[in-house]
Amino acid sequence: MHHQPEYMLGVDIGTTSTKAVLFTTQGKVVAQHAVEYPLMCTSPGMAEQDPLQIYAAVLEAIRQAVSNGKAAAEQITLVSFSAAMHSVIAVDREGNLLSNSITWADSRAGEWSNRIRDEMDGRAIYLRTGTPIHPMSPLCKIMWLRHDQPELFARTARFVGMKEYVFYRLFGSWLVDHSIASATGLFNLQQLDWDRGALELLGINANQLSQLVPTTHHLSGLEPAVAQQLGLLPTTPFVIGANDGVLSNLGVNAIGPGQVAVTIGTSGAMRTVIDKPMTDPSGRTFCYALTDKHWVVGGPTNNGGSIFRWVRDELATAEAAAARDAGLDPYEALTSIAETVPAGSEGLLFHPYLAGERAPLWNADARGSFFGLAMHHRKQHMIRAALEGVIFSLYSILPAVEDLIGPTQRMMATGGFARSALWRQMMADIFNREVVVPESVESSCLGATVLGLYALGKIDSLEVIADMVGATHRHVPNPESVALYARLWPIYAALPQLLEQQYRQLSQFQREVGVKHAG
Ligand code: ADP
Repeated sequence: MHHQPEYMLGVDIGTTSTKAVLFTTQGKVVAQHAVEYPLMCTSPGMAEQDPLQIYAAVLEAIRQAVSNGKAAAEQITLVSFSAAMHSVIAVDREGNLLSNSITWADSRAGEWSNRIRDEMDGRAIYLRTGTPIHPMSPLCKIMWLRHDQPELFARTARFVGMKEYVFYRLFGSWLVDHSIASATGLFNLQQLDWDRGALELLGINANQLSQLVPTTHHLSGLEPAVAQQLGLLPTTPFVIGANDGVLSNLGVNAIGPGQVAVTIGTSGAMRTVIDKPMTDPSGRTFCYALTDKHWVVGGPTNNGGSIFRWVRDELATAEAAAARDAGLDPYEALTSIAETVPAGSEGLLFHPYLAGERAPLWNADARGSFFGLAMHHRKQHMIRAALEGVIFSLYSILPAVEDLIGPTQRMMATGGFARSALWRQMMADIFNREVVVPESVESSCLGATVLGLYALGKIDSLEVIADMVGATHRHVPNPESVALYARLWPIYAALPQLLEQQYRQLSQFQREVGVKHAG
């Protein structure tokens, strides 16, 4: 009988889908499967999902990945989890659902977020918990539920997140890993425990939240019928894992000192790993746990690939249509148009705050602008300026990160933007750093399995990831472009500060006009 290879399974419970990826123990992808589900946005600001649908998707993704890989149950040495942060689900004493999963994208807690920040000592809570005071956070969401849905709040036995619900359904206990917990705004980073002040503010106690465990916590004991359905054994170890952001850092091998992971998908983020929790006196960065010895600091941006989509669909509509007619990818066609303009767009700047902005401004009222328009500017300048503006906006998070951790070096770039050579080179030039694109795998799933190996004592350092991740593209800064961008940068950076009051007035105006139209 020949030796059977060993596999490991990474599961990422994301906002658009749950993905399960079967890897060899060396990190090579064997098989994968994704199951999508909708985001419900039927009222202003709402962004909810059905926990039952997501639970079913998790089971189906695992079952299919195992079956696609033709893996025998004995060959699967571990299953380890990544999940989107910030979700809140209300459940009763028996574990029945009282609400949908309210996702990070739900903004209905906006007013409470402002009040917690400005009137309720939000700054101190942020400094202890590492989660910026923002409507995305469970802290603000639970506050909103308490005041806007008091009956629901009163009936709620527990507030849990999506991964907690999945583990409850699989194993019957309410567990939350330090990583998901560290993104709730309720977790004290120094004490590794629920933050008493935050709980008091909400009027809840620790029994209403899940039991805290390290990200390396593992358990087994699936119901035999469930195990059989999934193609696993009842004894297969399940590692609780961490959140998708910190696991993506691990999965792209950006865990060393000064190494930065940048992602630009629909939104974007910059993250780097340090060995102890740190928060920013000016409140610009988050701090989330990867393990108790690895912490991820960084900042998220609202405006990433969504800006290029806006350019494609609203600004360069005719150019995009012509590309489609010619059988070309509109993004590639628009990138070629942008390439006809020199770096710096001949003095046109674009601030991409079309969806307000998180890091480093944390201002939901911020708004976008073209700045510096002159008679010589044409549409191609506007397209290029928009792409540059997204990178400048991400670059503006860097000082906050470097103030905490010191100088940064190489950048690992992922997300849809990395398909564009022009956009990648812009990143190298604006950041004046080497930009490397890792081989495209599901980085959060890979990160989850490496954390799983660590959790089970099969490796003694996360650094094995270096041997699992290859590079597809490398960009070095072009000195001429670096110099041009360096001249534009202070002008770009000054504007949002100068316009704070006007951002507020204009967004207020937009809301009022919007209400009239709607009415
Ligand atoms: P998400 O992870 O948020 O679901 P992706 O990582 O797939 O999304 O990124 C989608 C974004 O990537 C698009 O909005 C677009 O801005 C960008 N993108 C996709 N294809 C290209 C391309 N060929 N060139 C440049 N940008 C692209």
